[in-house]
Amino acid sequence: MIMDTQSLNAIFRPRSVAVIGASRREGAIGRVIFEKLLDSDFNGPVFPVHPTAAYVHSVKAYPSIRAIPDRVDLAVIAVKRDRVLDVVKECAKAGVKGLIVITAGFRETGEEGRRLEEQILAVVREHNMRMVGPNCMGVICTDPDVNLNATFAPAVPRRGRVGFVSQSGALGVTILEHAAKLNLGVSMFISIGNKADIAGNDVLDYWRDDPSVEVILMYLESFGRPQQFIRLAQDISRKKPIIIVKSGRTQSGARAASSHTGALAETDILFDAMFQQCGIIRADTIEEMFDFAMGLANQPLPRGNRVAIITNAGGPGILAADACENLGLRLPRLSDEIQAKIRKHVSPEASLSNPVDLLAAATEEEFRYALSCVLQTDEIDAAIVIFVPPVVTDPIKVAHSVSMAMEGSDKPVMGCFMGVKGVASSIRELQRRGIPAYEFPESAAKTLRAMVDYAQWRSKTISPPVTFPVDRAAAADIIEAAVAQQRRRLLDHEAYRVLQAYGFRVAQTHICRNWQEVQDAAQTIGYPVVLKLSGESILHKTELCAVRVNIANESALRREFDELVEILARREDADPEARFLVQEMARGHREVMLGIHHNPKFGPMIAFGLGGVLVEVFRDVVFRFAPLSQEIAEEMVQSIRGAAILRGVRGEPPVDFALLTESLQRLSQLALDFPQIGELDINPFIVAPDREQCKIVDVRILLHPPKDKTV
Ligand code: ADP
Ligand code: MG
Repeated sequence: MIMDTQSLNAIFRPRSVAVIGASRREGAIGRVIFEKLLDSDFNGPVFPVHPTAAYVHSVKAYPSIRAIPDRVDLAVIAVKRDRVLDVVKECAKAGVKGLIVITAGFRETGEEGRRLEEQILAVVREHNMRMVGPNCMGVICTDPDVNLNATFAPAVPRRGRVGFVSQSGALGVTILEHAAKLNLGVSMFISIGNKADIAGNDVLDYWRDDPSVEVILMYLESFGRPQQFIRLAQDISRKKPIIIVKSGRTQSGARAASSHTGALAETDILFDAMFQQCGIIRADTIEEMFDFAMGLANQPLPRGNRVAIITNAGGPGILAADACENLGLRLPRLSDEIQAKIRKHVSPEASLSNPVDLLAAATEEEFRYALSCVLQTDEIDAAIVIFVPPVVTDPIKVAHSVSMAMEGSDKPVMGCFMGVKGVASSIRELQRRGIPAYEFPESAAKTLRAMVDYAQWRSKTISPPVTFPVDRAAAADIIEAAVAQQRRRLLDHEAYRVLQAYGFRVAQTHICRNWQEVQDAAQTIGYPVVLKLSGESILHKTELCAVRVNIANESALRREFDELVEILARREDADPEARFLVQEMARGHREVMLGIHHNPKFGPMIAFGLGGVLVEVFRDVVFRFAPLSQEIAEEMVQSIRGAAILRGVRGEPPVDFALLTESLQRLSQLALDFPQIGELDINPFIVAPDREQCKIVDVRILLHPPKDKTV
């Protein structure tokens, strides 16, 4: 039901609110919500609905929503589960536009609850209402024109720039409390609960162009419509950062390893691929999410990854330096010129190369001066200020100096105030001034890393995917025939033909039935050749000793052929259809793998990694969703750990990278043209600096099982 953004105004920006189930009993959820609504100074009338009471919390109450004389935009429903459906129907009759159903006991409890939830949803849809929940903790909007707090959360953060979606209600409470503690301002908050109607995607869409939301935080447990999410997030991330905590790192290795790509594409890898591709910042914990949010909501994005550390204690300075360097941030030595400048107003013993250690006696004035010098140079892009309170200097004054030094600067600064004495209040002082403040340097460094990554992602241009001229019909004939015969795996010669139709560089390959054909094929190809077994039941040929490479002449070929015949004969499930595959010997010296993994819900993903028989050992594989642009394909090739091997070690020339990125893009086109392909493995693609020597020598294509055909 996405794209009807305006309809969410009834949820976030209602002009009048009713609370149904506003109990007279103190502490009851309906009552608490009602009180919070009054406390939040909501800009409009709030009506309590109670079956019998004349008033609730000193406000005139109504026996039903229809008894309220005014128009009600939003109804917050906190009645018993079995009453919810009727109440929703009454709301529909009363012309209510938005519902927040706090009540739990639906889909999350089993079949009966699920049915009830569906009935409610049907009423909501029929009357063009929008619904949050059920089983949620409500909505907040701090826009002064609205001032809506329709939650039962005890602590409400101050007004600010962050929009927050939480799938968990319980965590929502904690999260709001934490935000309030960190003085992180919130613009809107929504706990989406069971997501019967309004889901994360709808909220993202609503916030896409809302200027009051500058940073989006999401706590998610599941994705209802991941492909739509990817499109939305990719677009929004260009304008504002999205930080996600995705819980439930799951299901690893549960799948049968029927193919390399399948075994590697575990759920979590899938999410990582998705987040990276959308520019989404992934936090591992709620705490980390807040660390990142403090940086991204209050500080400018760094232009590069060069960090200066200013400290009054050696140890923490070194810790911070290590953390930065481990995360791939750089700590350039400050130039003599800038060191000389700083030296003028700091202790002569201070060490100024970077970290800038001002020593324990440093005053707030020294901090201010050193930081402003550093922020003014072109030598660094961001700064971390570490302060450990000594006896003499007042941490609050240091916090104040940090903020003075930052005036007029467009570089991010992170504060790290350690220790106990007077620190809590100085941390609050920093946060009040919009300076992210952390207890430990690692958090500051991680946040900077996330900011650098995000800034880099945002500055990248993404060109539209290239469409190569291919013989789509030839591939379609093969794939459709196999689907019609309910076959799951393409035969080797079919798979090779599909690749040829899509313009891949495939090694010359002949599938033969007998010695005569093998002999002729080898003649045609020219020695040396490779001989393999080929057949529907033959999966990992190396394990069967069924790959014989570098066969120099006919007598050697005969020997290998006889051995393969013997291997075939020894197999229990002797496959009468088994064949011999004669192939040209590839000359390249590096092996990579390319693959498709198509999860019907998420869409096709393309894999790239170092290949060969060890691919599962190193797991050096990167995944991205199709379609791949030129830039994403390039990034994939460069981002695996083994990229250095492809670039060439010890003076070797690099392999043909342009061919690799082109092949990935062709694979992306194939994956999108044929959603029937469930898994595809090209392993190995033998590559070399010379394009003529780059050859695919093994491919496996699996189709989706008939039942989970992609729509
Ligand atoms: P498997 O079914 O075990 O994956 P492959 O056909 O991928 O069998 O062969 C295993 C290994 O043998 C490859 O990783 C590669 O090192 C080598 N190999 C296979 N075919 C060729 C060829 N045509 N030229 C050179 N090396 C080859
Ligand atoms: Mg192989």
